[in-house]
Amino acid sequence: MKLNLQLFGVPFRRTSKTKKRMRRTHLKKEVGAISTCPKCGASIRPHRACMKCGFYKNEEVIKVSEEEK
Ligand SMILES: [Zn+2]
Repeated sequence: MKLNLQLFGVPFRRTSKTKKRMRRTHLKKEVGAISTCPKCGASIRPHRACMKCGFYKNEEVIKVSEEEK
């Protein structure tokens, strides 16, 4: 099947390196929210149990083995 290219919007010019890079300055990975565990002080994500000590809201919710500490 032959495509009729006149039906498509085609870029008039090739996007320059600068324009492409300027557009991509917004494409970056953002660092998520980080808080500290009140029990052991490790960096944790909010609303999640601490992976170091297994505590959430001063209650042990996960058993963390001693070797992993
Ligand atoms: Zn902790």
